[in-house]
Amino acid sequence: MWRRTFTSATALKDKKWDALIIGGGHNGLTAAAYLARGGLSVAVTEELVPGFKFSRCSYLQSLLRPSVMNELELGSKHGLKLLRSNPLSFTPCLDGRYLLLGTDKHLNHSEISKFSQKDAEAYPRDFLDLLLSPVSKVLNNWFEADVLKATLASDAVIGSTASVHAPGSGYVLLHHVMGESDGDRGVWSFVEGGMGSISKAIGSAAAEAGAHVVTNAEVSQLLIENSSTVRGVILADGTEVHSSVVLSNATPYKTFMELVPSNVLPDDFVRAIKHSDYSSATTKINIAVDKLPQFQCCKLNHPHDGPQHVGSIRIGFESMEEIHSACQDAMNGVPSRRPFIEMTIPSVLDKTISPPGKHVINLFVQYTPYKPLDGDWQDHDYRESFAQKCFTLVDEYAPGFSSSILGFDMLTPPDLEREIGLTGGNIFHGAMGLDSLFLMRPVKGWSNYKTPLKGLYLCGSGAHPGGGVMGAPGRNAAHLVLQEVRKTT
Ligand SMILES: Cc1cc2nc3c(=O)[nH]c(=O)nc-3n(C[C@H](O)[C@H](O)[C@H](O)COP(=O)(O)OP(=O)(O)OC[C@H]3O[C@@H](n4cnc5c(N)ncnc54)[C@H](O)[C@@H]3O)c2cc1C
Repeated sequence: MWRRTFTSATALKDKKWDALIIGGGHNGLTAAAYLARGGLSVAVTEELVPGFKFSRCSYLQSLLRPSVMNELELGSKHGLKLLRSNPLSFTPCLDGRYLLLGTDKHLNHSEISKFSQKDAEAYPRDFLDLLLSPVSKVLNNWFEADVLKATLASDAVIGSTASVHAPGSGYVLLHHVMGESDGDRGVWSFVEGGMGSISKAIGSAAAEAGAHVVTNAEVSQLLIENSSTVRGVILADGTEVHSSVVLSNATPYKTFMELVPSNVLPDDFVRAIKHSDYSSATTKINIAVDKLPQFQCCKLNHPHDGPQHVGSIRIGFESMEEIHSACQDAMNGVPSRRPFIEMTIPSVLDKTISPPGKHVINLFVQYTPYKPLDGDWQDHDYRESFAQKCFTLVDEYAPGFSSSILGFDMLTPPDLEREIGLTGGNIFHGAMGLDSLFLMRPVKGWSNYKTPLKGLYLCGSGAHPGGGVMGAPGRNAAHLVLQEVRKTT
């Protein structure tokens, strides 16, 4: 595998680069790989060591575009190894039943039949009905079993502040099921070594093509000529780095409101960016445990790791109304009294990430408002009490879970903003509502990676087609830049 070339920030100032990328998220690195393969000299500036952060945030792969995987030879040459999970989801119920769903249609049929024979027959459907509707409306039309509807609806609210009854929630569900793993539609997988391995593999492809990655090199401002044209960036240590092409992997808000000097952009553009929706109600808790959770409902013959442990485990919501009521609490300004939790246990399939017998557990939790009315996320006791509420909820389904915890790390929306650079803590670089997708992403009139400044492009999740570890914005932006550069040479 190729080693990434880490260049010192001061070495960057000695030449004019063909292209400069702000941020080494997986999209920034994808853009770097395509641009360098297109023959451009490329530098990537990153605040900290890239790749590491992803393990703390994202936890499942499916959205990474097969074109990025294949063209950059991430699996065949750069060491990326996907660990497919099947069954894909497990929803335990307090009445002693459970629902497993996966890629095996016979398993799905017999599992759903436990709740409704009619739903088992109706399950294989055309998901396109979902595009514009509230997810609850569509699922209520199709199915009758609450636990099935809740399991499917959960993907419609992941990363959003909206309820299952919100128009557009159906699209978020589609966004989460449109991916694939090794050619299988809708299948999620873990990544050996954690999600950071995706960035490592893409970074390795970029380095192989000649891109230079500079860490500890925060960009503090863009250099703009004649109020209209980019000519490089200024790093936080004052170093000027020159290029007439700059791609930003930072959020659109950060790019235009913090890095571009004021009075350079058109007023209507600034207003649209400033008022984009960056609300977030997501908290991530990463936990080390000394044993696997034992789900009370499981009479499965797998006391240690079994099918209930390998997929996405949906805890605390057995009906869409429970998801709605968790959301209502946040609408009223407080964290959900009974949070919505998606649990994953990557160490069941990936033996490289925890000591033998011990496990890594991710809890993706909603809804936690950015500024709660009843406390402050900076307050240690407030944080601790919310974390304990989540652990107690897991205990209802898997008694003894709390006492298996060896330690944990918690990222609330303000932590995601401060530590990961996600404006408002929004996990997608801006909400994925119908008013900010397709031609409207990031804002109306600017969906093609270009910006009002000549030479400045967006290449991160704030651009079309949006959030998730996908690589599509990075790849598309790089193709556009290569086309434009070739036109002028
Ligand atoms: C808690 C959580 C869970 C998630 N779970 C999943 C999941 O399971 N599966 C999935 O597919 N997606 C998931 N996501 C979404 C996914 O992680 C993001 O959509 C994706 O990582 C965005 O990639 P990106 O390259 O566009 O941006 P980022 O990964 O945000 O990268 C942007 C980079 O730019 C850098 N940067 C910003 N400003 C500057 C500056 N001024 N100077 C230098 N560098 C700068 C930042 O440090 C950052 O590294 C999750 C996100 C979160 C927060």
